[in-house]
Amino acid sequence: MPSLNDIVAMAQAMEKSPVVVVEDRCLCVRNRNASCRRCMGVCQVGAIAIAANEITLDASACMACGACTSVCPTEALVSVAPLDADLSRAAAQAAVANGGAAVFSCARMAAKHQADPARFAEVPCLARIDESIIVGLVAHGADQVLLVDGDCASCKYRSVQPCIEATVAYANELLAVHGSSVRAVRTSAFPDSVLVEDAGDLYGSTRRGFLSEAAGAARETAVAAARTTIEQELGYSAEKLQIGERLRVSASGEMPRLHMPRHEVTINALDDIGLPCEENVETRLFGTVDIDTDRCNACSMCAVFCPTGALARDPVEKMSEPLRYLEFSASDCVQCGMCVDVCWKGAVSLSATVPTAELFDFEPRAFAMNTPPPRRSAFG
Ligand code: SF4
Ligand code: SF4
Repeated sequence: MPSLNDIVAMAQAMEKSPVVVVEDRCLCVRNRNASCRRCMGVCQVGAIAIAANEITLDASACMACGACTSVCPTEALVSVAPLDADLSRAAAQAAVANGGAAVFSCARMAAKHQADPARFAEVPCLARIDESIIVGLVAHGADQVLLVDGDCASCKYRSVQPCIEATVAYANELLAVHGSSVRAVRTSAFPDSVLVEDAGDLYGSTRRGFLSEAAGAARETAVAAARTTIEQELGYSAEKLQIGERLRVSASGEMPRLHMPRHEVTINALDDIGLPCEENVETRLFGTVDIDTDRCNACSMCAVFCPTGALARDPVEKMSEPLRYLEFSASDCVQCGMCVDVCWKGAVSLSATVPTAELFDFEPRAFAMNTPPPRRSAFG
């Protein structure tokens, strides 16, 4: 277990930065040939830097929009203000209070004090929300998901608007393919059920109450939040080995596999919503892989570096024997592209059009390797 000092130090780091980097989840840390730079592509202030197996986030530059956390395929960047689970819980409680409508508001719109703060979930920017949160709310009974924004065109976060559009489009595609009639909708006005005539008192009492409670319990709260975050959400422990040791290929020929909470939430939510009614789904959360076995030389590097184990050696084969089969599970694939990046034969292709039957087929798809040519014997 991490010591109390470690936990408090992490809590203090979280206070400074609304986004925490979990280094060994980043593809570029796991393999310097990884081409992923999605976080850098959406960060409007250049707060993220990647070089030679290292990723750093400049907390003083970060504007807390959360866009990087929603595009990272491996959840290497985690918003801690709030955490996904806390945000989903707040939105679910608001949906109950609203009779079914889950409402999110950006901070700019919330600051207008038009709405009851118990009836919506606030985020710094709507780019913080990803499709797992939306689909999860629908699975739990939300009959509307509304994303209320201020005037994005004049907002300091305006350049991440395409991220919000992408999340809404991908979430709605998942919902439609699973037969749900609910759609996430962007709007610039709170629904009537959330509005109050004068929300000033509600905000005032909420903030005063929060501050007085926080004064007495700040340390305990920080410790509890950090402990939960470190151990459950981020998979980080102060007592674990250094990153170089953590990322070593094991005797079984694999790098440490990552657990993907966001993908698990989404698969479970889709399963609850209903059976897929389309053959394929366009998604960025999952992917499907093909291997050209005529090009493949059975080196198995794709399986070694696949961060989730979506591509893996047949578990019954021994490492000492030539590779005969690779197995692929679409539900574990996060469309990160690492397998494509590490295949020097160009044999791996990745698609965002995922067959729904494959997504819910828990038997992996097998690729039979072409039998390597037999070695000529020195005796004939
Ligand atoms: S998006 Fe995630 S995996 Fe990709 S470079 Fe950024 S932190 Fe690493
Ligand atoms: S199969 Fe390829 S794209 Fe999918 S998670 Fe593994 S490395 Fe990433």
